[in-house]
Formats: sequence, C-alpha cells, structure tokens
Amino acid sequence: MITRIKAGPFRVRGVSVGGVYTALQVPELDAAFDIGLAPRSFASARDLFLSHGHVDHTGALATLQGIRGLMKMPRLRVFMPEEIVDPMVAMLDLRTSMQRYDMSVDAVPMSPGKEVSLGGNLYVRAIKTFHPVPSLGYVFLRKIEKLRPEYHKLPGREIAELRKQGADMFDSAERIELAYATDTLVGVLDHHPELYSAQVLILECTFLDGKKSIAAARAGCHIHLDELLERAEKFDNDALVLMHFSQIYSPREVVSVLRERCPPELLARIIPFVPEGRSWPG
Ligand SMILES: [Zn+2]
Ligand SMILES: [Zn+2]
Repeated sequence: MITRIKAGPFRVRGVSVGGVYTALQVPELDAAFDIGLAPRSFASARDLFLSHGHVDHTGALATLQGIRGLMKMPRLRVFMPEEIVDPMVAMLDLRTSMQRYDMSVDAVPMSPGKEVSLGGNLYVRAIKTFHPVPSLGYVFLRKIEKLRPEYHKLPGREIAELRKQGADMFDSAERIELAYATDTLVGVLDHHPELYSAQVLILECTFLDGKKSIAAARAGCHIHLDELLERAEKFDNDALVLMHFSQIYSPREVVSVLRERCPPELLARIIPFVPEGRSWPG
C-alpha cells in the first residue's frame, strides 16, 4: 500500500490521493510531510511538517502519536501554519483525555518567510501557498559559502593562507535540496520561482486532463497539469515528484496521461508518486 520512490538523493515513501489522504516520509531529512494516514514506519520521523489543517492532511496525527507513545519515542516536533496551532493542541489534549499517555507535541508555529535551523547548515523555510484555509509550503535549504570568482585561479595553499589571514573571499549562497508544496493554486510557482531550481520538488498535481477543467481545479485551489505544461521549460529540478492526484484517475491512468501529455524534457524530470512510479519510466 505504501509507495516508495527515489528522487535525487532522497527516498520518498507514503501515500497520496487528493482529498483522501496524503502522508509522505523522507528519511534523509528525518521528516514526514502531512499525516492523512499514519503508516507505522512514520513513527521514526523526528519532525512533521503540516501543509494545512484539512483532514486528508492531518487526520491521522493522533494515530501517529498513539503509535509513537506505544514505542516510547521522543516528543514529536510539528511545524505548522501558526493559525492552526491552537486547534491542533486542543485536539491532542482531547485525545490525551481518552488515552493513558500524553499525546501532545512540540508545536512550531510557522508563517511565510520564517526560517528554522534543523542543525548544521540545513534550514527549513516556510513559503506561502494558496488554499482556502491557512496553508504553507516548506523549502529545505543548505547555506553554503562560495569562493568568489576572482579567487578561482589561486592554488588551494594560497586560499588556505588568505583564509587564515581572515580575507573576505566567500559569498554566502543557498542551495534548495527539497521543497514541498501541496493544496495550492499554481501561483505558488510564480511567487516562488526558486521552486523551479530545487534539487527535488514535491508538488501537487491534482488534475491531469479534460476530466476536470482548469477552472474547476482552480475553484478548489488545486493545480491542473495544463498549468504545469504552460510552465514546462521553467522546471530545472533533478526530480519533480508529482502527487495528490485525484481519485478520478487510477495510478495506471496517471502514468499513461503523464506520458502522453508531457514534453520529453519535462517528462524526464517527473516522478509520479503512485505505486507504478517505482519502475518509472520503465
Ligand atoms: Zn489535499
Ligand atoms: Zn486541502
């Protein structure tokens, strides 16, 4: 039942059907993304990142806490839109009253632009997404130092010497390793063009063809494949993981429609998050 794919350096595991349930785990980041369903293996994640409060993305948080309680796991850290912290905390308090152990979490309220260190040079930054309820996307970035071009030709020994003398030779840069955006209008890409260059971009693509019009997709604040095709040449990701497909498509249809409709350049980057995605392009 669990889908497993490899996207760049990351393993992505979980389930995702638009409106039904979405829950992903990326072990390399010690993270889970949304929790519409709680597979037992998700209990090992240190952090959970919630995109928004809709039940298909958060409904199984109590189940996850139950499993973690059983396994005596350390407290879960949950990043979420600041607007939903109070109801989430209250919901878990109610659950605690029916359980024999504490179900609470360490809530980390997030808002667009807010950045939190995850250790070393890794950071997570929240970005604004566009949905009828408070919602966020998450960008995982490494802050790195880049040697200025004028120093490129110097031998390593001299660079080390100059560095010792405290010379200012580096520019700071960010490298986005993974980004997650779901339940949003396609405008998220226009407002955050940095998503196009994330090494791995996990993006919703709820509707795929004429079975649903762009207007209908937009009315529900979701992305239609037509809108990604309009922007096809902008994607520069090593892997573009598409997920949150509507249940009006079978996993097989997802694969065949993508093959049929995407230009080769874009298709080469896409990994559909369906069981068949494992052997993609196959
Ligand atoms: Zn959803
Ligand atoms: Zn939603």
